[in-house]
Amino acid sequence: MTTQVAQFTILQMVNLSKEVIEKNYLSIKHHVEEAAVKSGRSIEDIQIMAVTKGFPLSFVELSVQAGISLFGENRVLEADQKYSHLLGQVELHLIGHLQRNKAKKAVSLFRCIQSIDKLETAEVLNKYAQSQGKKINILIQVNTSLEETKYGYTDTDKLYREMEILQNFSQLHVTGFMTIAALTKDEKKLRTCFIQLRKLFNNIKERFSLPQCNVLSMGMSNDYIIAVEEGSNLVRIGTALYGTRRGYYG
Ligand SMILES: *Cc1c(COP(=O)(O)O)cnc(C)c1O
Repeated sequence: MTTQVAQFTILQMVNLSKEVIEKNYLSIKHHVEEAAVKSGRSIEDIQIMAVTKGFPLSFVELSVQAGISLFGENRVLEADQKYSHLLGQVELHLIGHLQRNKAKKAVSLFRCIQSIDKLETAEVLNKYAQSQGKKINILIQVNTSLEETKYGYTDTDKLYREMEILQNFSQLHVTGFMTIAALTKDEKKLRTCFIQLRKLFNNIKERFSLPQCNVLSMGMSNDYIIAVEEGSNLVRIGTALYGTRRGYYG
């Protein structure tokens, strides 16, 4: 954590104005809108999340002033440092891997955990949510690129088996699915990842009774347009809003 703190201090000195964030946000919104229309939807159907991992608290505060209300963070401790005083104002999601020893804290911070990649994590979350009297939304993370560095379900049969249990936790609502596409500029490969998640999403909704399951979280700065064309309704954007992260190992 010491590196995190040091890094925030360095980044605090970087200047980024509310106007720049607004301009970037509008430009992203414009691209999302075009892609939405191409796929028979409208901009209202799609949520744009600001991913603030590796960026300082000042960026978060400027974003709130710019009217952004949905945020994503990768790490529980970093999220706690930056957001504990803002939770009444914004909706915060965890989009990075959740370790079980951080589950209790996670329950108090996040409205949604987008990175459920195994049953055990959900079990622990449910337990803490119960003791804190909270309900939490979860997304199932699927590793569509099969890259070994990425988390997420790869075995569909296993996911189907675990869905039987995941759908029944008293404090957790399965509200959708999330993926990180392949690390590539190859449009066809990216599209394949997104199509795969969309199909899985549709199949699972057919097979299970999941009335609240409607989020398809896919697309980041370099691939969100393709993701929306392929059905994404939640894009997670960091770099395109705030610029390049320095020295962040996420
Ligand atoms: C960092 C991150 C993002 C945002 O990535 P950018 O390329 O900066 O837009 C989105 N989703 C997840 C899971 C991430 O870890």
